[in-house]
Amino acid sequence: MSTNDDDGDEEFTTTVYYDDDADLGALAEQTVAVLGYGSQGHAHALNLHESGIDVVVGLRKSSSSREAAEAEGLRVTTPKNAASEADLVSVLVPDTVQPAVYDEIEDELGPGDTLQFAHGFNIHYGQIEPKEEVNVTMVAPKSPGHLVRRNYEHDEGTPGLLAVYQDATGEAHDVGLAYAKAIGCTRAGVVETSFREETETDLFGEQAVLCGGVTSLVKQGYETLVDNGYSPEMAYFECLNELKLIVDLMYEGGLGEMWDSVSDTAEYGGLTRGDMVVDDHARENMEEVLEAVQDGTFAREWINENQANRPSYKQLRQAEKDHEIEAVGENLRSLFAWGEDAEAEGETAETPADD
Ligand code: NAD
Ligand code: MG
Repeated sequence: MSTNDDDGDEEFTTTVYYDDDADLGALAEQTVAVLGYGSQGHAHALNLHESGIDVVVGLRKSSSSREAAEAEGLRVTTPKNAASEADLVSVLVPDTVQPAVYDEIEDELGPGDTLQFAHGFNIHYGQIEPKEEVNVTMVAPKSPGHLVRRNYEHDEGTPGLLAVYQDATGEAHDVGLAYAKAIGCTRAGVVETSFREETETDLFGEQAVLCGGVTSLVKQGYETLVDNGYSPEMAYFECLNELKLIVDLMYEGGLGEMWDSVSDTAEYGGLTRGDMVVDDHARENMEEVLEAVQDGTFAREWINENQANRPSYKQLRQAEKDHEIEAVGENLRSLFAWGEDAEAEGETAETPADD
């Protein structure tokens, strides 16, 4: 959030909510429908349930998650029936199917009900136009669902975001905070934001830095070494495997802790060469990526891609799978002990199967 002070300089203020700021009472008399039982869905449903909230899970009749939810003692019905029963409907099916699911449940949303999201895409880009008489909130954990669940079970929290798009009852904010508390987010801290800010920063971050930027950097680094005659195994270790060690340090203590931990040679080389690689041109490209997020170009492209049954997406996915670094990595990970550990950890981290 930003406000202008008297000098016209922008001042950034952040509001963070903790357990004491939130009152579960706002959900006490309510039934919460959780639509979807994937990464976020299973975590929200189980955490809400264990926080004493009346939960009903909404899944398609054919859903393979049905048994998993029932085995955990949750009630399961169709999305439409769940929404009909509920005062708050948490939409945790994939973003691309949310508009269709919303059409199914729209008639079940009554005055004063709350429509709750974990990502702002469909509201922000007008793919769902919610009725005026309902609250529209977002509680978005900044973490994959299996961690939202695991942290809750260990009496720990998961940082999250809270936004109110539409406040029909005057209580949307309290309801959102109660929801954030019930899934364990206020234990760690919940930052106030808007649907616009969450959606645009989320898309930009995953495209330019987290998912897109990093994988491109890794592949280009790998190819540079291999094309110059170095072994694929060395290139893999340098450009992919060691990334985790560097990121762990940055996660713990920022860029400073990383620079402190590497050798002076690495620090000097990195400080002088980093901006040569990710240079002004890369920055201009980032501005372009951001613009396409802001003006809706990316959203339209992605919606069209889905309507056409994902032709480019399938091709790109396959090309990424076929990149040499994947085969090299698979082989190396199977040869080393940490490979087995990492695989085992990945297994316990899995969430219920998608259908
Ligand atoms: P997911 O793909 O893990 O799970 C979606 C679930 O929806 C499936 O398991 C299934 O139970 C159900 N489903 C799938 N297709 C359906 C259909 N056609 N009709 C009805 N139900 C269907 O989804 P997710 O990653 O948990 O994402 C849910 C929401 O949470 C999205 O808005 C996403 O942006 C947001 N989010 C996800 C993460 C994350 O780390 N995965 C983090 C923050 C926010
Ligand atoms: Mg994201």
